Amino acid sequence: MEQCDLIISNALIIDGSGAEGEAGSVAIKGGKIAAVGDVEGWVGDQTIDAAGLVLAPGFIDVHTHDDMAALKTPDMTFKVSQGVTTVVAGNCGISVAPFTTEGNFPPPFPLLGSESEFRFPTVDAYRKALQKSQPAVNLALLAGHSSLRVIAMKDGLDRGANEAEIAHMRELLGAALKDGCVGFSTGLGYPPAMEAPEAEITALASVLREHPSAVYATHMRDEGDHVIEAVEETLRTGRDAGVPVVISHHKCAGRSNYGRSGETLKLIDEARTGQAAGLDVYPYTASSTVLLPEFVRESDDVLITFSEPHPEHNGRRLEEVMAEWDCDLEEVAERLYPAGAIYFQMDEEDLKRILAYPPSMVGSDGLPGQARPHPRLWGTFPRVLGRYVRQMKLLSLAKAIHKMTGLSAKTFGLKDRGLVREGYVADLVLFDPETIEDAATFEDSEQPAHGISRVLVGGAVAWQNGAATGARNGSFVTH
Ligand SMILES: [Zn+2]
Repeated sequence: MEQCDLIISNALIIDGSGAEGEAGSVAIKGGKIAAVGDVEGWVGDQTIDAAGLVLAPGFIDVHTHDDMAALKTPDMTFKVSQGVTTVVAGNCGISVAPFTTEGNFPPPFPLLGSESEFRFPTVDAYRKALQKSQPAVNLALLAGHSSLRVIAMKDGLDRGANEAEIAHMRELLGAALKDGCVGFSTGLGYPPAMEAPEAEITALASVLREHPSAVYATHMRDEGDHVIEAVEETLRTGRDAGVPVVISHHKCAGRSNYGRSGETLKLIDEARTGQAAGLDVYPYTASSTVLLPEFVRESDDVLITFSEPHPEHNGRRLEEVMAEWDCDLEEVAERLYPAGAIYFQMDEEDLKRILAYPPSMVGSDGLPGQARPHPRLWGTFPRVLGRYVRQMKLLSLAKAIHKMTGLSAKTFGLKDRGLVREGYVADLVLFDPETIEDAATFEDSEQPAHGISRVLVGGAVAWQNGAATGARNGSFVTH
């Protein structure tokens, strides 16, 4: 008999590959999965009887803005409580590293934290800070294009970068990848990057070619009226640069664009015959980001998530504040800024189509640290498994889990994660498929989900019986 730390027995193992579940047990030793299926030769220091529960790889949240939160709130309860064991941070062009503000701190950077908190000129400096803070989840980082622009373009961002600036940014990106970043992100729909032409992005993305497994993830230039052109640009950038692309939080925003996911997914599908192209999606029809008038115009309704100068309006409808102040949209946005908002601007049918599309991955786009965050921060993964799998039967449990684990690890090059396999890291989640569901709502968003029995990060139990255990076993994940 061989000794191990923990045996989880009698589970329905859904291994993350997309294959249907099989009854079995798992032995865990030294933070790794030592055996799967039949564990008769093993004796565990501890045993968990998982009868009636599903054992899956820990969920990988491929779209997060957790860079700063992993340092400030290392318990990461909003992630661990929903079964997430690894986050990909640095999305939408804004990474905390490499970054130096020197007084230039445009939107959407305030989404991550206040200016004084940004203090990581290199990814190596950030990695050291992360090792000190010891978060409860693993973190992989993308280097943000807007962060690079702020460093390299001191005299303003309202133009394309010149040759010298592109060379500088290529150097910074190369160093970030060497320091362990898993890819590059852009936020082309935001002020710091809006004026960056496609050629600038292609020149930067092509740096990834020297780093196998590195990906280019993009919050596209447009997710509304010009979403088709934006998808085309993204795919072309990937082809021209010769690198894999991921379309972030894919949506068709604004009433006039409802239904267009049929066209966007067709474009992605055609492209996939000749290039690596993926996408992520969150299971809500409202988005959330900084408060800017152009986003309000595309929305049916808007909620304020935070306002630095006017915290008394956190959680309120923007329209009410506008009426009280008797002012127009430009003025209310300016007076509330720095501020964040939730925008109701999507169609449930598009969301279902994108979520059911086999190549899509699940990513929360959750925004920690806000006074009244969008419920996706706490509810994304259980909401997919409860609402869209169990209730609506939009897709099978095994296929949904694949979009949260195996597919995600493969896309972002996270080796030894995302599958229940011998030798893989013991990042695991144990949940009840009959009761799993999100509890966070737009009115009350900081609520842990139901149905998550246990969450293990690197073999250590981080969540059990509805509470964090205090174990913080996450690490900085590289290729
Ligand atoms: Zn984004």
